[in-house]
Formats: sequence, C-alpha cells, structure tokens
Amino acid sequence: MAQKKYVYFYGVSKELTEGDTSMKAILGGKGANLAEMANANLPVPPGITISTEACAYYSKTGGKYPPEMEKQLKVQLKKLEDNMGKKLGDPADPLLVSVRSGAAVSMPGMMDTVLNLGLTDTSVLGFIEQCGNARTGWDCYRRFIDMFGDVVMGPYTGLTHHDFEVELESIKKKYKAQEDTDLTAEQLKELVDIYKKVYQNKVKKPFPQDPMEQLDLSIRAVFGSWNSERAEKYRQINKINGLLGTAVNLCSMVFGNMGKESGTGVAFTRDGGTGHSMPMGEYLIDAQGEDVVAGIRTPKHLDDMPNEDSKVWAKAYADLQKIMARLEKHYKYPQDVEFTVQEGKLFMLQTRNAKRTGLAGVRWAVEMATGKDFFTGENQPKILTQKEALMTLSGEDLEQLLFPIFDIEAEKKAQLITSGLPAGPGAAVGMITFEAHEAEAEVKKHPRAKVVLVRHETSPEDVGGMWAAQGVLTSTGGMTSHAAVVARGWGKCCICGAGDLKIDYKKKTVTVGEKVYKAGDWISLNGSTGKVYEGQIPTQVSPVVSAVVDNNAAAKKDPIYKMYAEVSKWSDANRTINVRTNADTPKDSTAARAFGAEGIGLCRTEHMFFEGDRIWAIREFILADDEKSRKAALAKLLKHQQKDFEGIFKAMDGLPVTVRLLDPPLHEFVPHARKDQQEMAKRLGVPLKKVTERVQSLHEFNPMLGHRGCRLSITYPELCVMQTKAIIGAACKVARLKKPIKVLPEIMIPLIGTKAELDFLEKIVRKEAEAIIAKATVKVSYMVGTMIEIPRAALTADEIADTAEFFSFGTNDLTQMTFGYSRDDIGSFLPDYLNEKILPSDPFQHLDQTGVGQLVKMGVRLGRETRPNLKCGICGEHGGDPESVKFCVKAGLDYVSCSPYRVPIARLAAAQAAIKG
Ligand code: ADP
Ligand code: MG
Ligand code: MG
Repeated sequence: MAQKKYVYFYGVSKELTEGDTSMKAILGGKGANLAEMANANLPVPPGITISTEACAYYSKTGGKYPPEMEKQLKVQLKKLEDNMGKKLGDPADPLLVSVRSGAAVSMPGMMDTVLNLGLTDTSVLGFIEQCGNARTGWDCYRRFIDMFGDVVMGPYTGLTHHDFEVELESIKKKYKAQEDTDLTAEQLKELVDIYKKVYQNKVKKPFPQDPMEQLDLSIRAVFGSWNSERAEKYRQINKINGLLGTAVNLCSMVFGNMGKESGTGVAFTRDGGTGHSMPMGEYLIDAQGEDVVAGIRTPKHLDDMPNEDSKVWAKAYADLQKIMARLEKHYKYPQDVEFTVQEGKLFMLQTRNAKRTGLAGVRWAVEMATGKDFFTGENQPKILTQKEALMTLSGEDLEQLLFPIFDIEAEKKAQLITSGLPAGPGAAVGMITFEAHEAEAEVKKHPRAKVVLVRHETSPEDVGGMWAAQGVLTSTGGMTSHAAVVARGWGKCCICGAGDLKIDYKKKTVTVGEKVYKAGDWISLNGSTGKVYEGQIPTQVSPVVSAVVDNNAAAKKDPIYKMYAEVSKWSDANRTINVRTNADTPKDSTAARAFGAEGIGLCRTEHMFFEGDRIWAIREFILADDEKSRKAALAKLLKHQQKDFEGIFKAMDGLPVTVRLLDPPLHEFVPHARKDQQEMAKRLGVPLKKVTERVQSLHEFNPMLGHRGCRLSITYPELCVMQTKAIIGAACKVARLKKPIKVLPEIMIPLIGTKAELDFLEKIVRKEAEAIIAKATVKVSYMVGTMIEIPRAALTADEIADTAEFFSFGTNDLTQMTFGYSRDDIGSFLPDYLNEKILPSDPFQHLDQTGVGQLVKMGVRLGRETRPNLKCGICGEHGGDPESVKFCVKAGLDYVSCSPYRVPIARLAAAQAAIKG
C-alpha cells in the first residue's frame, strides 16, 4: 500500500513544487498559496509544508505524529538543504527556517510564527561569517530565543514575549538607543546572553542547542495551538467548522534585517476599507517578521518606497507592483501579501485573499467586472465576469452598505476628542470599556448594551470582546494591526493608532490632554474618517437606503448607491426564483418594493389590531358573550382593516400579496397588569371581575400550541368572515379606482394540521369572497392557500393541496414544532448547545436543512403531486438568510419572502444559488 503523504515541498521550481492553491484543505491557506506562487515562478523562499492531516492525527492521538511523517520530513528536509546549499545546524553555514502555522481558512494572529530556527551558540557564528553582518546574526538569534520562548515554550512555562521585551527596553535604556536598530552587534550579543537567562529561569532548562529538537518542539507547538482556547474562540465566532487542523510550514529564511537595503512589509492590492483600487501597504527598513504590525516602530507607507535613498527600493517597489497585479489577476481577487527585501532582492512570503469591509467588497466586485472605477471614472483591468463578481459577495457585504452612518449635521457639532486611522468604516456609539472580557460579559448580560472597546492595542485573546463591542478604538497600531484586520473582516467600526489617548487600565480612564474619560462614558466613532467624539451622535441612514427608500435624488448619484444598483441588476439577471417581502404596512411595502421585492409573501394582520383604537375593538370582541356582540365588535375593526389593505394593495400594484388571517392567541391582546385591566373594565363598561375572569380563562400552559391560528376562526368563524370582507372588499375597491390597481390577493390560513381544518375555513372564505365580488361588479381573482408550519401538514401535503392553491412554509413555527424547541425559550439552552456542538447553529436563524428542510422538500413534492402548479414559498425568518435561500432554490420553491431590508440580500443569494447550479 502506498504511504500516505504528509510532507510536501514547494519552491525552487515548478517541477519540485508539490502543491497548489486547490490543496488548501491539506496544505492550509499559507502553504497552498506559497506553492501556487512557486508554480508561477514568483520569488518565494523554498520550504516544506506538513499537512493538516498530520495535525488531525496529532490531535486525535493526544500528541503523536503519524508514523510515516518523520521519515518523510527527513527526506524533504534533505531536499531543502540540498537546494539551498545549507544544512540545518551546520556550524559553518546553517540553514535557517521559519515555522509557520496555517489552516485552510486564514485566522489572523491565531498561531504565532517562529523565525530563524536553527540558530545555536555555534551556528550563529557560522551564519555571521556567511552573511558578513554580525548585527544581523545577533539580531536574528535574540529574536529566535524570544519567539521560541514565547510561542513554543510559553504555553507550558508561562514565559512570554513581555519577559524578553522588558530586557530589550532596559538594554536600550542602558545604551541610550532610541530604536531597536540603534543597538550594535555587541549589544545584541549581550542581549542574547540575557535572553538565554530569562529562558532558563522560566523553563528550567537551557535554551535548546540541537536544531532538530528546536524543530520538533516547534512543530508540536503549532499542532498544539490548534486546540488553544483563543483559536477555538476565533473559530467559534467566525463559524469556522470542519477543518482538519493547521498545517506547519518550514520556510527557508530570508532576512529583512540586513541593513538599509533590506526590510519587510505587508501590502494590499486594493484598499480593504474603502475598496479603492490603489495598492496600499506599510514597510519597515532593517526589520524582520512582524515588526510592521507589532507597532514597535512606526511603519512607512508603501508609496514612500520608491523615494528611499537607496535605488534598490525603487526596483523592489516596481517588482512588487508587478507581482501584485499578477496575483490579483491570477486569484481573481484582491490579495493581502507579505514580503521581505533582502539586500535589494524582493521575496514573497505570503499571499491570501484580502479581508475587507462590505463596501470594499462590493466596490471590488463591481469594478473588477466593469473595469471602471466607480468613484473616479478611471479605467482598470477587467478581471471578472458579472457572475464571478457576484460570487465574491456575501449577504453581509450588502448589509453593510445599508448600515447607518452619523447624521452629518450632528457630527459637525459634536465635540471631537481625537482622531486615529480609519480602520473599519461605519459609525459606532457606545460606552467606554477597557477590558475585552468586560465588554463581552456586559453584552452577554444586557444584549442591547452598547460598548466601545478602548485599548492600547488588541490581541487575539480580545476577539470575544471586540465582537461584542459596537466598535474598537486603539491608541497604537496601524492599518494592518490586529485590531484593524480583525475588525475589517467583520465589517466592524474600528479606529486605530489614536496616539493622543493615554489609557490607564488600572484607573480605568483614558486621558486626552486635560480631559479624562472614565469607563462607562459615551463616545462615538466614525470608522470611515477615524474621528472620535464625545457623547452619542445620532446616526443616519446610508446613501443606499436614502436613494432606495426615500427616493432621494442626491443619494441616487452616490457611487455607493450606483454600485448597489449594479449588483442588484446582475442578481436579478441571474436568479431563478422570486423574492417577496414580509410587510404589513404600506410604508414597509413601498420600501420593500424599492428594494426589489416582487410581492408580499407574508402580511401579518394581527399587527393591525394594536394601532390606536383598534385594540379596544378587539378587546370588546374578546369580552363579548355571544356571536352578535362579537360581530358588532368586529364591525368596528372592519373599516380599519379594509383601509390598511387598500394601502398595501396600492403599494404593491400588479404584484401578489399574501395575507395571513389572524394567528396569535387572544391573550396577546388583553392586558395582564391589574391597573390596565381596571382601565379596560372602565373603558368597555364592564365589571373588573369580568375582565379578570376572561383574561384568566385565556391563560394557556403552552400558548404556542394552544388556541391560535386557524383554531381561532374555527371557534369564531366571524373572525375570518370579517378579515375576508376586509381583504376582498379592499381589493374590489382599488380595482375599481379611476386608475385601477391590479390586485392579486392570496388569502392564507395559518396553522393547518389537517385537510379538514382547511376545508372548513376555505368554504367560509370563498363564500364571503364570491359574494363581495359578485356585488362589486369588478373582476378580482384571488387564491386561498395555507401555511405549512405544522409537521403534520407537511406529511399530508398531498391531501392539503387538494384544497390549498398555494403553500407558504412558515419555517419559524415549523422549526419550533419539528425540534420541539420553544422559539421564545431557546435562549436558555441554545448557548450550551452551540458550545457543545450539539447544534451547528441557531435553527431559527439558519434553516435546519437535514430535518426541517426535509419537511419542506416533502411538502413541495407531495403538494405538487396533487396540484402540479401549486405555488410554493417560504415566509419564515429564513427567507432572508443566504444559506437558507440557497436551500429554497434547490427545494424548488417559487419564491422566498423576507423583511424589506433583507430583500437585496435574498436577491443576491438567489442569484448565487442559480449560478452555482
Ligand atoms: P501570520 O500568519 O501571523 O501572518 P506568518 O507565518 O506569515 O504569520 O509570519 C509572520 C511574518 O514573519 C511574515 O510576514 C514574514 O514577515 C515573517 N516570515 C515568516 N517566514 C519567513 C521567512 N522564511 N523569511 C523571512 N521572514 C519570514
Ligand atoms: Mg501573526
Ligand atoms: Mg503572514
């Protein structure tokens, strides 16, 4: 039997490279893309990737390597040594490598990299001899001890980067060095001795002098880090499931710390915040590794690179630009790259699809497909087809375009505190919180609490709190700092590097000049400009919303709106199912229509019962003792309801409108507080006792399974008679207007479990409707159908379709009844279920395709066996959830229906499902 391959080689040439970008699952994103770049003959330092499968094995066996792995590693290492002409641990000319983690999905900062592995007390001398630069040698060694101590040994011994950092600070003080780079070779050598002592103190063993031992411990540390708390938390928050583990990359080192013609940096092919198509980035001369993002020295802007004193930088810059353009075209997606320049020569160390805000995502997609800059009108390369462009977007991207921004006038008047880098756009308002765990706890306790996390910088341990916060504000760090990268990925408002902030974690204060702000004080962040304000600034709708909903002419000229319109147009050209909306007022209907809704999939009539005086009419109905007085009470509601429907029908002229008959249990309409019951008694002129008794009698142990839905109208047929009168009456009225409205009412009977229930009510509805239409002398056609929300209805859909002209899957109740989880009480146990991975996600948010989805599919299939042209749709919350929409396309539904602001998202998801096929 052939051996399983765990160790792969990349670099030197295409022939020697064993992987490519399609192998992310096994090589991790970093390894697969390094191989892909090597295949394209880009300058990549050669290396080895140990697969994620080896990590999975390691996790499963509690710390064993697969038996084949070590031998394979030896062979590949020999290949690397031969090609590099250097040997690991060779005292005369050592090969140095970095040890880098990398899972299939990029997880910024989750597992740290160790650089310069292979240095020992003897090999450092050989290395210095070879490169002729003692400073570089000792700088590499001190970095290696620091990283190895922190990343590899830290988890077991408590040794941290900070332990080394204080020594670095004190030696800098001792020799009056401003920057790390001011330390001489001799001084760095002294630091290495100190570092070794720091190491020995905590680890209780000397710093390992055998490179194979260094390597082994490092590989184990990377594998082990996969299951660390912070990695698990990141995966949980970002819903990253089903990965094998992390790969380990052993990359031959190149050195950015070899003097003035060397350096290291990061760059984006396009701006991940605004989406602007100019490459942007940061770099540092004479630096190594993550110095750029660590905020130790302030990095320079990429644009400055060609103007450096040494000519090599202009050349490196030109090379980098060329490579970035190639990478973007190759990957058909903007890239985030890491590079190092060693004595003038450029090396690519990483490329990956760049993180971005929703705005940037939309801008990239639209501009890459049209070859046009939407803001400046300039031409740019056409890289994507429209279909490809749509596939790069997610529902959240579009959603972000609909996010609020600050009210412009209010922002002008607001008291500016300071400003920083605009790292993540949008507006955030919240109370100052200094600790991530406190932010997290506060929001857990009060889900509506608004906090802004304020820190020197953030680290991966803070992701929980960053997620919980409305926005993040840091005093150090650049556009590529941890806070910036993570926040952008989430589309969260973030301001970085606001250097005026003096944060005191102990006193829980932040001081700017004379002013002191305490934890709990309100601040407002404008993540698009980097401005930080006192207090709470009111927010304002986005240009898309004001163009679409308010029909604002100026907003329609806004490039953001134009891009939204483009994406929506392309979505419509590609999708195969309709998108309707859930709306029960003319205003919502109009907005939804402007967002592209092609009808109403769910108009909930009960919401109309609460407004103004109507609640009193329904209460009168509830208190009534006989049919006659019930009818009298309902008569008062009739004219209101009919008016409501007229408004909705007008807004939806020419489009179908599904109206659901009254659904909730009656107790929702009566007051439960004694004071309110007294008012009810007084107002309706009945004794208090009558009110309290009636309220009592409406009490149910399981109201969700009680007297509601069609059951109400079976007990009180006059209810469905009144509602039919209102719906059909309104339809006839608007159809007879001078400018007639085209009405397509669909009367939907909720909570049917048996055909007999539906038959009973359908007869009443039709009789009433026909009578009104006959009298009105106008031709109005209507349909009668039902909601499929009780499992029994799905199971007997063939029988029910005999009566029902359409089905609408009410997946909220269907989920509730299929799982037996009360949707109002799931909060008490859902977090445990998610933690323990008993549920993959909240089934009320994301349709449970394996269970509830089966009932949907079965309902459609059985229903259409009886009635081939049965119209089927979905009207639960799932109608606006992209994954669920894709399921609905596959299940053969005719439409999905969702809340107005989710209509654009559903349109996109429907197009994506169709494109994917
Ligand atoms: P992360 O996943 O956190 O981005 P990386 O593995 O990319 O970590 O390593 C961080 C940085 O270390 C890189 O951006 C690069 O600057 C540096 N680095 C990693 N490997 C090498 C190498 N072989 N030679 C030089 N620098 C390296
Ligand atoms: Mg990192
Ligand atoms: Mg990296």
